[in-house]
Amino acid sequence: MNDTHSLMLTYARNSVAFVRGEGTRLWDEEGLEYLDFLAGIGVNNLGHCPPKVTAAIREQAGQLVHTSNLYRIPLQEKLAQRLTATCFADQAFFCNSGAEANEAAIKLTRKTMRDRGHPGRFEIITAFNGFHGRTLATLSATAQEKVQRGFEPLMPGFRYVPFNDPVAVEKAISPYTAGILVEPIQGESGVRIPDDGYLEALRAIADRHGLLLIFDEVQTGMGRTGKFWGHQWSSMTPDIMTVAKGLASGIPMGACLATASVAAHFSPGTHASTFGGNPLACAASLATLETLLDDGVLQKVSELGAYLEHQLQELEKQYKLIKAVRVRGLMAAVELNVPAEEVGAMCLNRRLLLSCQMGTTLRMLPPLTISKEEIEQGVAIIGSVLNDLF
Ligand SMILES: *Cc1c(COP(=O)(O)O)cnc(C)c1O
Repeated sequence: MNDTHSLMLTYARNSVAFVRGEGTRLWDEEGLEYLDFLAGIGVNNLGHCPPKVTAAIREQAGQLVHTSNLYRIPLQEKLAQRLTATCFADQAFFCNSGAEANEAAIKLTRKTMRDRGHPGRFEIITAFNGFHGRTLATLSATAQEKVQRGFEPLMPGFRYVPFNDPVAVEKAISPYTAGILVEPIQGESGVRIPDDGYLEALRAIADRHGLLLIFDEVQTGMGRTGKFWGHQWSSMTPDIMTVAKGLASGIPMGACLATASVAAHFSPGTHASTFGGNPLACAASLATLETLLDDGVLQKVSELGAYLEHQLQELEKQYKLIKAVRVRGLMAAVELNVPAEEVGAMCLNRRLLLSCQMGTTLRMLPPLTISKEEIEQGVAIIGSVLNDLF
């Protein structure tokens, strides 16, 4: 029985309710088994209930859940060390979501410019169809009408340009510009992969104009694309980077990472989060990193991604209504010539979870621990739906 009347209707939810998960599988209230090609929207990157993470959460929950950031949190120090060792960053700030991580990045950008003697530089250039969150600042950074409509006035300080177009970025720069914020691959708009050289061009523009380069790796981070970070497919590094989704395998956690020279502008008292980086979230995240890096999960993502890409390309040959297949690691999209919603609904009916983006795109973010057999099973379900519908 549905009993949703006490909830705000912010989500167009499917009526299925899951009660248990293991690896790439979920079970609903009736005990029916599903194949999960969405992993909680790129959160459960190690599959459902990965043993090491589950054990770490259980143990930490029995020992100490929360103390606040008024005191040292050794697990947070350890996690920051482990995370910064994977990339350009020297320091981390922990929070609880992707939007909050981006809020921190936006504040850090403004503060850095102010401290460097440029109080008038507060504007951040972002890309159309990007996605940075639902708070007022991050929806103002999100250049999508459907995210912003109804919540005006938007927060000042953002300027939008087409994605994958460095010339447009250069043209948008003014005396007010402080930074450039983009996703290395746009996720919510259907896995939009920029041309090789795009991120390097942004780096060069930022350097030329004294701007900060900020990457939103909330979706592309934590091994999703086959490298630990999405921007590591390129040969450059940003000044600030945000992460969330896969960071703690489903325990809410986000982080803003930065170089030491930028991070130094967050002095004591300038930014804070009550829950951010509490012992429970840190324990879950440390176990996630351990599994991803030490147990060899990350090494297999590229090969599994290539397998998924090949399978989807085979479908593309078979069905003319597939307009494009876009894959980077285990971040994948199938763009159709027809609305995707009915296809997605039919897939769920046949017990495959995926998501519909931008009206015509099916997006897949399966667990990075998925097997080749499971990839075959999922793609076969998509094929059977396309076959029966068209
Ligand atoms: C999901 C997402 C966010 C927002 O994360 P929340 O945890 O929902 O606030 C921000 N940026 C990108 C790229 C995302 O995919």
